[in-house]
Amino acid sequence: MGKHAADPSHPRYRSLLMRYRLEEAAEKGMLAGSAMIAHGRGEAFDYLLGEQTIPSAYEATKAAAARLVAAKNPIISLNGNVVALAGEEMLRIAALLKCPVEINIFYRTPERMKALLDHLNGLSDELNLNVEILGASPDGKIPGLEGPRAKCHAAGILACDVILVPLEDGDRCEALVSMGKQVLVIDLNPLSRSAKMGSVTMVDELSRVANNLIEIIPKQPDVEEWNNNVGLQSALDHIVKSMGNNIFL
Ligand code: ATP
Repeated sequence: MGKHAADPSHPRYRSLLMRYRLEEAAEKGMLAGSAMIAHGRGEAFDYLLGEQTIPSAYEATKAAAARLVAAKNPIISLNGNVVALAGEEMLRIAALLKCPVEINIFYRTPERMKALLDHLNGLSDELNLNVEILGASPDGKIPGLEGPRAKCHAAGILACDVILVPLEDGDRCEALVSMGKQVLVIDLNPLSRSAKMGSVTMVDELSRVANNLIEIIPKQPDVEEWNNNVGLQSALDHIVKSMGNNIFL
């Protein structure tokens, strides 16, 4: 950890650590200009959730883990914020599932792709994880999307049956669902379009979900029915209830 990182005893240590990781990634050219705004929206919802994994989010994470374990061709889609905040954890999850990861960014430039690929390949070597890292030479297109953000690997995202998409944008999430894939979303905002489109939505902070998945996947949970609207409503109820408590008087 670098010189700016907070002291672990600081009450906002986790939050400061995540901000620091984003700062570092921005310096390396890994992030889009809007990355901090997206993170800020997430932080606001996390504050309202009490910066904890609420029970319905843990249930959603179990449901997602079960689907990843049962999948024929699972894959993890990574964008800049995900690589910055939980790149190591995502590689560990891919190693547990023996599946590839694919860098799939909204604002694709050769410089950003190179910065992200270099960072992930460095991590994978350092951790000796042997995970296939896709994204460098996309040869397929997600139907229903325009421009560079439609690009993907034919043997990666195009061929998968179950896809973990942390912090995905709503359009791409919808396009993936339309292709008949099971889309597992991580998003702190239960009202976002991605959250509503997902097959299973984990309303929780990315790095907390990642650690929960690392703990749950080896237990190989069975796939059980999941009603995503019930999960989203529970998250929203949690927020509303905690705000309705008498906080100041
Ligand atoms: P949508 O198109 O789905 O409505 P959006 O435009 O609100 O999405 P984006 O800017 O594409 O959102 O992505 C940011 C989303 O990611 C926000 O909904 C935010 O709550 C969520 N988010 C940001 N940081 C995190 C994090 N660390 N963990 C989980 N979710 C996060």
